[in-house]
Amino acid sequence: MGIYHIVYYNANNQINFKTIGIFKFIDYILIVSILKIAKLGHPVLLKKTKEINNLSSIDLKKIVFDMSETMIDTNGIGLAAPQVHLTHRIFIYRNPEIEDGEKINISVLLNPVIEKINDETEDDWEGCLSIPGMLGLVRRYKQIKFTALDLSGKKITGEVKGLHARVIQHEFDHLNGILYTSRLAHKNAFGYLEEIEKFWKNNNDKD
Ligand SMILES: [Zn+2]
Repeated sequence: MGIYHIVYYNANNQINFKTIGIFKFIDYILIVSILKIAKLGHPVLLKKTKEINNLSSIDLKKIVFDMSETMIDTNGIGLAAPQVHLTHRIFIYRNPEIEDGEKINISVLLNPVIEKINDETEDDWEGCLSIPGMLGLVRRYKQIKFTALDLSGKKITGEVKGLHARVIQHEFDHLNGILYTSRLAHKNAFGYLEEIEKFWKNNNDKD
């Protein structure tokens, strides 16, 4: 599986990006910006994004680096273009399953397509950088297949499950203007983090 990863190192107070994959950005010098995150209620979050037809028409590296910086700054595990007011079909996410130690491993998917592998679903709590401080219990497919382009324009495919599949489905929804609040496993299973921790996570009474 050829997911294109940006490995983010933050050592000695220096922020360096390196990659595993086709490109090496070791010498790619740029000023990275933290982008403004659109919050629930902003119409940009409800718009469908457009396919990227010509990868060289936009500075994808700059977009991806800025999105990475923004996601890390806000402690997110995924970020889709509409959340930072962009209209491209692109999202990034961290994959905790393949991170080790100080490294943060960021995957980038362009023009992704996803497909369920079977009908099995599972419910779990999700948060979103566009809905800060809140959590919802969301139903997702357990396993999915995806195809996408990597930053070099090469087609990549994969089959993933569990948290990895959940993050991809959450971010993919953003590209279609869908927020997790419209996929709640139970209509009342949504609220502020503290209250959810107190009243939901420790007791399974959802009535
Ligand atoms: Zn989100």
